[in-house]
Parts: sequence; C-alpha cells; structure tokens
Amino acid sequence: MTGLGEAVRRSAAAARDLMLPRGCAGCDRPDQVLCDDCRAVFQGCEPRVLTGCAMGGAMACAPYRGETRHAILGWKDHGDEELDGVFGELLADLAQRGGLIAWCRGLPASDLPVWVVPLPSSSRSMRRRGRHHTMPLAKAVAARMRAQGVDAVAVAALLSTATGGRSVEQGNAADRGRRIGGHIVCDDSYGMRGRVVVLVDDIITTGATMRQCAAVAGDAGACVATLLALAQTPSAATR
Ligand SMILES: [Zn+2]
Repeated sequence: MTGLGEAVRRSAAAARDLMLPRGCAGCDRPDQVLCDDCRAVFQGCEPRVLTGCAMGGAMACAPYRGETRHAILGWKDHGDEELDGVFGELLADLAQRGGLIAWCRGLPASDLPVWVVPLPSSSRSMRRRGRHHTMPLAKAVAARMRAQGVDAVAVAALLSTATGGRSVEQGNAADRGRRIGGHIVCDDSYGMRGRVVVLVDDIITTGATMRQCAAVAGDAGACVATLLALAQTPSAATR
C-alpha cells in the first residue's frame, strides 16, 4: 500500500505541476525552484557548538525561520524533490565557505576517503518520505570535495533505531549505541575506525541528534571533522 500511495502522490504532484507553474519554495515567487533572494539567505555560515569535533564546531547555512523554514519543510515533508539539487549546492558551498574543504586538504595523505555521512531518520520517517532525504545533500558535498581534490564519498554509515530499524537486532552495536547515542548506532557493515567523517543534516534544533551521531562515530574510532546543516533554529546557537 505504501508503494501505491507513493505512486498516487507522485502522479498527483506531476499533474499539479503541469497545471500550475511552481513558485519559489521559500517565498512563492513564480517560476523558480528557489529564487535568488531566498537563495541568498542560505549563504551565511552560522557556527554551532559541537564538542569533540576536529574543526571545533558545527555550521549551518542559515537561521531556520521564514523563507528557509518554508523551503526546508516543503522539501522535507511535502516531497519537493526539485530542491535536492539546490540544497545540495548550498551545502557544498557551505563546505567551501566554512573552510571544511581546505581543512581536509591539510590532512595527512591517506588511502581512506573522507566519509560524508547523512544523519539518519527513523525507519517510520524513511517509509513516509520514501527515501533517505539527507543523502542527496551528502552526495553533493562529497562531489564538491572530490572536484576540489579531496577524496570523499557519501556513506549512510549511521542508523536510527527509533522505530525498530534493523540495527535494533544488532546486539553489541545497539547496546553501545543506546549507552552513548540514544537511538543512533553505526551500521556494522561499515568500518568507521580511522576515518575522517563529515556529518550532514537538514536542521539543527536542540542539537541532541547531532551530538549523539558525533559521539557514536567517535566511539567507533572515526575523527568527526564537523557537521554541516542547511539551517538551525535561531536560539540554538547559544545553547
Ligand atoms: Zn523566494
């Protein structure tokens, strides 16, 4: 039924798009996926405390409010997949602007590519969306890093056990995850030890999930460089 529901939803969206030209996801200005004014709002670099990461903190493109909130909600919860490309570029720009790519270039030579790891969603959210929505962001960041001479690849190496994901069954990993990271665990099919990891998320709100992911990756032997997000709630920066 989920597959059929998804097909119906996509057909309805396609029919709507034929009849009505789309508006900007941020401000509804006609005919653009994200207009220049809204895009400009995403071109900041907001720091956020993330203890234990090698670059000293996380960073977000913009505050989560107004146009940024409208656009991210449309993408995340209403299936506006046309924004994948735009948001991927904006996050890749942040990787550059925030110094991540230069930092990675300064790392000692290694045969291990940098892993760009999207934060996991609960299995229920994945089913509802029909996809891992932060993966296109991670892929765009990894592609920009490769284009700038840093060996990098997007890997979904973290899992959420929040609503009975398969990692709940994974004994030791799940126990470790619950102890350190609440509902986040490493996917045991990937080895984190010795990896440089960049975390990618859509919105930082309380920062709890971000901290859990960083702690779990660190415990598994990874060096977490930073976390990149599209937006953070305005009050979050001082928490
Ligand atoms: Zn706009």
